[in-house]
Amino acid sequence: MSSANDTPIWTIDGIPYLSFSSKAVWNAVRISNPVKCWAPLVWHKATIPKHALTSWLFILNRNPTLDRLSTWGFDIDLDCLLCGLAQESRNHLFFECDFSAEVWRLITQKLRLSSPPFLWDQILLWLPTASASKHQKLALLQGWQGAIFELWRERNRRFHEGLSLSPVTIATLIISTLNNKCNAMLQLGLKRGISLLQCWAN
Ligand SMILES: [Zn+2]
Repeated sequence: MSSANDTPIWTIDGIPYLSFSSKAVWNAVRISNPVKCWAPLVWHKATIPKHALTSWLFILNRNPTLDRLSTWGFDIDLDCLLCGLAQESRNHLFFECDFSAEVWRLITQKLRLSSPPFLWDQILLWLPTASASKHQKLALLQGWQGAIFELWRERNRRFHEGLSLSPVTIATLIISTLNNKCNAMLQLGLKRGISLLQCWAN
């Protein structure tokens, strides 16, 4: 870990980018992978765009996790900034990490889904089948993406600012954000907002 500001470098098709270009990433991925089975997990009817973008980049494993930075030649400490007990990678962050796992547990508990998987590949298989209720399933996708987004944000907060929140605070933040999203859907006249709100409300 470094106290200096870091500069993520994006490599797309072998070309390094100093700033993130969603257009370049989109074009690189879109051309080679026109339709993927995970697309409905990311681009669904109740998504928050910044949550979708972050989870999509993690599905592609294109975000600058420490294990990837290391393979690009950065001489850095690979310890997970959330738990300090293992090397940081996408699969560790979501949700093999004890810290992340607690957030994931709180989110799935809120949706009354017991025994969620904690391994990345298993979660991708579980998400479409976790509930018989289409609204609960949609809420789960919201929660999964929200957890990825807020945990990555927390990791970056620790990396850059040395500040940290607890798993309970992060889960509360995710649920509050999703409540706001559902209320916004309601205001737009989208009826599924009501069913989703019921999933997230107390
Ligand atoms: Zn960890």
